[in-house]
Amino acid sequence: MSSLFAERMGKTPRSFIRETLKVTECPDIISFAGGLPNPTVFPVRELAEVAKDVISDEGAAALQYATTEGYLPLREWVADRYAHRYGLSVSPDEILITHGSQQCLDLCGKVFIDKGTPVAIEEPGYLGAIQAFSLYEADFVPIKLEYDGPVIDDVRDSMEKKCRFFYGVPNSQNPSGVTWSETKRREVAGIIGSSDSMFIEDDAYGEIRFAGDIPTPVKKYIPDQVVMNGSFSKIITPGMRMGWVCAPKEVMTQLVTAKQATDLHSSILAQRIISRYLSEYPIDSYIRKITETYQKQCECMLNAIKKEFPDSVSYTIPDGGMFIWVTLPDGCSSLEVFNKALEKKIAVLPGIPFYTHGGGENTMRLNFSNSSFDQIEEGIRRLSEVLKTFTST
Ligand code: PMP
Repeated sequence: MSSLFAERMGKTPRSFIRETLKVTECPDIISFAGGLPNPTVFPVRELAEVAKDVISDEGAAALQYATTEGYLPLREWVADRYAHRYGLSVSPDEILITHGSQQCLDLCGKVFIDKGTPVAIEEPGYLGAIQAFSLYEADFVPIKLEYDGPVIDDVRDSMEKKCRFFYGVPNSQNPSGVTWSETKRREVAGIIGSSDSMFIEDDAYGEIRFAGDIPTPVKKYIPDQVVMNGSFSKIITPGMRMGWVCAPKEVMTQLVTAKQATDLHSSILAQRIISRYLSEYPIDSYIRKITETYQKQCECMLNAIKKEFPDSVSYTIPDGGMFIWVTLPDGCSSLEVFNKALEKKIAVLPGIPFYTHGGGENTMRLNFSNSSFDQIEEGIRRLSEVLKTFTST
């Protein structure tokens, strides 16, 4: 049947993460490979109540077709949140409710990418974005990521290569855990601002922050050249698939057309449940509970790493999000580490799929949000035994 499939399917990488998760789902494996939020903090009881009330009080509207743009009170909540958290002034008309923030990436693919369009992306970059843009046959231009954000010369070069956009995750990036410094945010805004290009600012982890001030979004500097997305997945629940995209009006018109053609609108039942939950429960204290939980899990993993890992292995110290990025000495293969670790019933995620042009063989991503303290300590101990067989110190 392969001759029936569109050429682009052959060029789109399958999600290594989803494939890996299949192997690592066995209950006796300690998995740092996935990227799942911690289910112990989902507001299950509250959402059960709210869902019942939405169906009984607003059933006809909640079960009917709805507008593509999304439920107005929910868009108003997002605009208000941006004003309070980031000092961003956006109107609800600039917000489109999407099926998870992942859908923003697909819609941006539809709206901005023709076959062979150059697009800039962090290296390592978010795998879901690599997949989404690959489907539209983008020509990736990698922008190296350092401990404080993108390499600025790479951003400049990418604009000379006429990239239509630069996609990045400035807050607690997936996979690296890196948060861009204020200086780099300003520099990137300056470069994009003096080009005809856009910045796609993926803010999936903006609310999951354990340390430091709230960073300034790039959108604050160049609002008319930034498409910013956000998600209820990390602050309420991923299962309802609720996210949003915030874009300048001209881009929004295109995104709405693309969404109409894709799925008409996001689940209005889910939108009304989330909206009612936000109006009836104090989201800030709930987010605080999540961030405190993740902070403790992150600290537990960092302490175990510090104690157990060989000195030649380096790692990032995240100030939010769900991931630590580990770099092994040159020449060490994280794929081999992955295989050996699985024998010890530990799953890690090799870094290779996060690179669009090869490289990253000695890197791997560790997720801390979905394991207990005992699992984290035991998992890092066993992983260290494997690492010691690959490294000299
Ligand atoms: N962007 C980034 C950087 C992510 O890590 C994720 C989740 N893995 C998403 C977007 C998509 O999340 P969702 O669709 O659940 O909002």
